Amino acid sequence: MINSGSSSLKYRLLDMPGAAVRLDAVVERIGRDDSHLRLRRPDTSDETQGCEWVGPIADHRAALAQVDASLRASGWGPEVGAADIVAHRVVHGGESFQGPALIDDQVVAAIRDHCRLAPLHNPANLAGIERCRELFPQVPQVAVFDTAFHQSLPASAYRYALPTDWYHRHGVRRYGFHGTSHASVLRQTAAFTRRPPEAFNLISLHLGNGASAAAIRAGRCVDTSMGLTPLEGLVMGTRSGDIDPAILFHMTRDSDLDLSQLETALNRDSGLKGLCGSNDLREIQRAVEAGDAAARLAIDIYCYRIKKYIGAYAAVLGEVDVLAFTAGVGENSASIRAQVCDGLESLGIAVDEQRNQYYQGGVGEIQAGAVKVLVVPADEAHEIARQALDCLHGVSA
Ligand code: AMP
Repeated sequence: MINSGSSSLKYRLLDMPGAAVRLDAVVERIGRDDSHLRLRRPDTSDETQGCEWVGPIADHRAALAQVDASLRASGWGPEVGAADIVAHRVVHGGESFQGPALIDDQVVAAIRDHCRLAPLHNPANLAGIERCRELFPQVPQVAVFDTAFHQSLPASAYRYALPTDWYHRHGVRRYGFHGTSHASVLRQTAAFTRRPPEAFNLISLHLGNGASAAAIRAGRCVDTSMGLTPLEGLVMGTRSGDIDPAILFHMTRDSDLDLSQLETALNRDSGLKGLCGSNDLREIQRAVEAGDAAARLAIDIYCYRIKKYIGAYAAVLGEVDVLAFTAGVGENSASIRAQVCDGLESLGIAVDEQRNQYYQGGVGEIQAGAVKVLVVPADEAHEIARQALDCLHGVSA
């Protein structure tokens, strides 16, 4: 599996169908003289079973070549090109992709077309795809899109109340992101409850550095909190989530910030970081314990926003069977889970203090009310690999 970011590349070799991780490589600071490659074999408990390499890596092609060279040098093989299939995570598939796609020239052209919707992410994803196609032309490659899971949204949920022309000419609509994570939560919930996805309604909360909520009715996503970009919705580590758009007009008049500085501020300097100076929830919780009022308020705003989305999605779904927490915060912070669910008894949502506190990993049940409340491990790599395999074998996702 390959996940190419603007200056990073993550490579993971998985044994399918179980998804045991055989190799894990992360290249960071691509484009600099001190690029950093870290290679690990997670199937061994020996922490020394890793190697690092620092040096110049000009681009994603060079990054892949360096991963390949390091694999050969370490004798850990197999080299990248020996994989049976390469799955690429692609952030934006627009309205063109309802599921994963076997990569050919047309798919590459469509991903390129969507660069205008995701100017930071899609070009990097494309660079990874193009290099892999050049380096390993014999290996089938599949694109798995972050947006595809949300293509089932009805127009009433995905359209903004803006001039219709903006939608038709400029693609302005809600697309949603974190699709593979929400799909993975759905799949794991179905397996855990031993019910087919069609048999229950689910609110899925992906709470990591990025955060989003999804309302899933009978296996199909019907609403999600991220929009045209990942900026909309919940309060995140550094992103604002929902704001009054007129704040931007006000700030252009009332400060010396220009539009691009405002874009950076909303994406990188807002959210928890904007409110209290840190986007690391553990750090913020320590600050709360030390009596920091800004940290306390940041957490209160964060939880309040999530609670409002749960209420909205309960109304959208009519009946909620499962509420699921996943990702860094969702899996690890019992206090956030408790605060989010506090006061939702009228919706049948309540958390059992003991079960919540002593959640031990895997899929865990923590409810004290009629709605099942689950903690579900984030498993995006497995989901991406599984979708890629299904695509190659012609199984619809
Ligand atoms: P992710 O983007 O899924 O890696 O999640 C990152 C977020 O999860 C950061 O805000 C971390 O502070 C938070 N996180 C990770 N581990 C814990 C933990 N044990 N307790 C609270 N928050 C955590």
